Amino acid sequence: MPDQILVAVAWPYVNGPPHLGHIAGNTLPADIFARYHRMVGNNVLMVSGSDMHGTPTMLRAREEGVSAKEVATRFHKAHAEAYERLGAAYDLYTHTDTPNHHAVSQDMFRKLLDAGYLREQTTQMPFCTVEQRFLSDRFVEGTCPHCGATEARGDQCNQCGKTLDPIELGDIRCKEDGSTPEFRDTRHYSLRLSAFQERLEQWVSKQDHWRPNVRNFTQGLLRDGLHDRAITRDIEWGIKVPVDGYEDKRIYVWFEAVIGYLSASKEWAKINGEPEAWRAWWEDPNARCFYFQGKDNIPFHTIIWPSMLMGYGGLNLPYDVPANEFLTLEGRGLSTSQNWAIWLPDYLERYEPDPLRYYLSAIMPETSDSDFSWAGYVRRNNDELVATLGNFVHRVLTITARTFDGRVPEPGSLDETDLEALAACDDALTGMARHLEGRQFREGLHSLMALAQHGNRYVDRKAPWATVKTDRNAAATTLWTALNLVATIRTLSYPYLPFSAEKMHALLGFDGNVLGDGWKRRSPEPGGLLATPVPLFKKLDDSVVEEETMRLEAARASGRRS
Ligand SMILES: [Zn+2]
Ligand SMILES: [Zn+2]
Repeated sequence: MPDQILVAVAWPYVNGPPHLGHIAGNTLPADIFARYHRMVGNNVLMVSGSDMHGTPTMLRAREEGVSAKEVATRFHKAHAEAYERLGAAYDLYTHTDTPNHHAVSQDMFRKLLDAGYLREQTTQMPFCTVEQRFLSDRFVEGTCPHCGATEARGDQCNQCGKTLDPIELGDIRCKEDGSTPEFRDTRHYSLRLSAFQERLEQWVSKQDHWRPNVRNFTQGLLRDGLHDRAITRDIEWGIKVPVDGYEDKRIYVWFEAVIGYLSASKEWAKINGEPEAWRAWWEDPNARCFYFQGKDNIPFHTIIWPSMLMGYGGLNLPYDVPANEFLTLEGRGLSTSQNWAIWLPDYLERYEPDPLRYYLSAIMPETSDSDFSWAGYVRRNNDELVATLGNFVHRVLTITARTFDGRVPEPGSLDETDLEALAACDDALTGMARHLEGRQFREGLHSLMALAQHGNRYVDRKAPWATVKTDRNAAATTLWTALNLVATIRTLSYPYLPFSAEKMHALLGFDGNVLGDGWKRRSPEPGGLLATPVPLFKKLDDSVVEEETMRLEAARASGRRS
């Protein structure tokens, strides 16, 4: 029986194009994971979309003097296109301004209200006397009551990661004009998180398979005790509150954005003409739901969303929340406001997707922050992709083309070295599978490179270009064996380097596609026609490092925003 695997990927704000931090943080690990599970034959549903109603989008719209919808629509398109060009194989990448998402969010709201998990109360919200409006969370900043950081936002502190309410901030000020807001009474609904405290404690205590950072952080929040949180706001951009008297208010973004995983699953099912198909991932208790996140999103996926699901009833809780730490850039924290970032659409205009996928996988910030540098990118591309992996594949294919007319040779009897090479294929498949099942993406990549290294050593030792002159059979056996390694490298590349995997598939003259061959070794048929060999990867000149570093510095100095 195939497993039902939901791959739920963080919903990015669309106040700018996607940058590499998004990719290393969640898009890429999720895509690797989904591709692997599809390959072993599991039923994967991978969904995400753009968070259209985020306050950063409203902030940018105010700066540009256009509507929030215009900014959100523009950057939703940029995100969707860039992910596709990166090879992120979403079943659906949608956004939160669809009629479907509005309806699913309002249904969740009503159901939680009917079940007694929402409470209406008069709360105090910051009101800017300069602008004469209530300020939602990211329109204010102040001092974090937990760690003392001075630029904490109204919804969360970036320094310590704790979620906040604006009223908790010390020295609160309006981000727009710097004035000190007044706290004024306003009616809002809150989610009664405190009602879920015990159930969450019990549930979290059983999640031994979570990464320690995720589990410890969540248990810390539970130890501090959960507070009810307002889920409506005095704003115009967002989803209407399905209650009379709330016409001027909207459901707040952190409440509805997490519902996107569910609404996107339903939308996907409708698009595919099987409107009930989403239930296989959400209602079958054997289905497993994985939520790929950056570490700043942990509380939303281990506390808030599970509470909402418990309150709604009948839907699966997260199985795991593999949250990554942050990516830094040339030793400094990524910052969109300071324009210190590499934007994915810019990257893809100049370079291929696979070398980026490779480098970000090799340095993926799984357990601690890690640093992207152009020097590291060029070195990994040249030393590993070109000189090890690409070199092995290309030399095997070119020698075969030259000595056996571009056809897969018929092997003779295999000696110990040949058998070892074939065993290395099976070991690599098992090894990578174990790491990917365990959400260890850096480790998983080692299986791929180790097999390419094994292949290079094997071919060096057997020297088929020389033996072919004296013992044609021996050379045939060597090249057939080496082609098995190439075919397996193709399989192992599929999660990480999908474009190169398809190229190898075509070079081997295989029919169908990589996915169709499944997670096992496919032996090339003797006599099968190979395609004309072309190198898989391009060597990059060292000047790339200087050019790109200058480009980064210039963008930062100009303050130009993408
Ligand atoms: Zn103001
Ligand atoms: Zn803090």
